[in-house]
Amino acid sequence: MGDKFDFIRQEMSNLQESGLFITLRVMGSPADAWMIVDGKRVLNFCTNNYLGLANHPAMKEAAKKAIDQWGVGPAAVRSIAGTQELHIQLEKRLAEFKGVEDALYVQSGFCANQAAIPPLVGRDKDTGEQDVIFSDRLNHASIIDGARLSGAKIVVYEHCDARDAERVIRENLPKYRRGLLVTDGVFSMDGDIAPLDALYEVAEKYGVMTMVDDAHGEGVLGGGKGIVHHFGLQGKFDVEIGTLSKAFGVVGGVIAGKKVIVDYLRQKARPFLFSSAVTPADTAACLAAVDLLEQSSELVEKLWANTEYFKKGMVQLGFDIGRSQTPIVPVMLGEAPLAKEFSRRLFENGVFAMAIGFPTVPRGQARIRVMNTAAHSREDLDLGLAAFEKVGRELGVI
Ligand SMILES: *Cc1c(COP(=O)(O)O)cnc(C)c1O
Repeated sequence: MGDKFDFIRQEMSNLQESGLFITLRVMGSPADAWMIVDGKRVLNFCTNNYLGLANHPAMKEAAKKAIDQWGVGPAAVRSIAGTQELHIQLEKRLAEFKGVEDALYVQSGFCANQAAIPPLVGRDKDTGEQDVIFSDRLNHASIIDGARLSGAKIVVYEHCDARDAERVIRENLPKYRRGLLVTDGVFSMDGDIAPLDALYEVAEKYGVMTMVDDAHGEGVLGGGKGIVHHFGLQGKFDVEIGTLSKAFGVVGGVIAGKKVIVDYLRQKARPFLFSSAVTPADTAACLAAVDLLEQSSELVEKLWANTEYFKKGMVQLGFDIGRSQTPIVPVMLGEAPLAKEFSRRLFENGVFAMAIGFPTVPRGQARIRVMNTAAHSREDLDLGLAAFEKVGRELGVI
């Protein structure tokens, strides 16, 4: 006999049967090179803690001090009584850091896309006129959701293909009121990077607004300043989305770019107007992260030295590591069951690295994804490489 939740039970068993059911691993220690995962101490290759800031002493100190001075929460949305001096300081520092005119700090990177896209493009309630978004085929879920929420037409162009972007702009733009081109900076499943220079040229040629989401590029590319710096395009993109929850090690999102847009979003962005501000502890820790990044490039350099060492080791062992240009290393294994078994055996051997399969990546392209960080030591990397070699031989991958 059914009841009104039968559809849920059905979908849950579908997930189980297709191997897509998510089982949460529980962390028993801070995010760091070594972590206690489901009660076991393992070498961690799964967090986006690129610079090792998530458990950094200076960051923790800043957060503790902020609690003493500012309390634990703002108890208001930014537009009513939630804007504390810390938020303004952080926005100013982030804008300077990125070399843009202005910045808005919101609750998360996910939120930043929901906040930024709908005010820029959509459908006019009175006239019915629609706008158009040109979106890379592999853009992040938060961009896709922000785009859907806007009500604009979404036209996808082929992954990292500026010529195809030009084709879809030329064919579609005349049918719509205005356009926005949006791309991830670094694509987190493959570690490849968008051809930002070519995309910028195309978008400018047709008068289309430009937006890049640099969640995996900040603290990593361009000496730590992100993908826009990597391409020497500072101040050119209209909107740069960022997150404070990856390389910055804390939590929060940022919408940076042209002042005309950021000013407008302070009036219009719904997560900014209707959801409370980020806590003082988090905001102060983000400020400390900017300090650390501005004081020294040591952590960024260590991140890249580790990345090169690990990638070279994996290639020498005979693994296929795809097309990564960043510290993200996809270890290509093909079928999802093999990737899952590989990950399970790595864990038995003390290494935590996640298997990723369909639908997050295309069928037949299942992989283990290794996230390199500055928190790892050379010995950690050697240990990781040895575990990959052992399991790779056991499973006949190398
Ligand atoms: C991780 C990620 C986000 C989400 O950032 P959070 O701060 O974790 O919400 C948004 N966009 C891209 C491209 C990401 O990789």
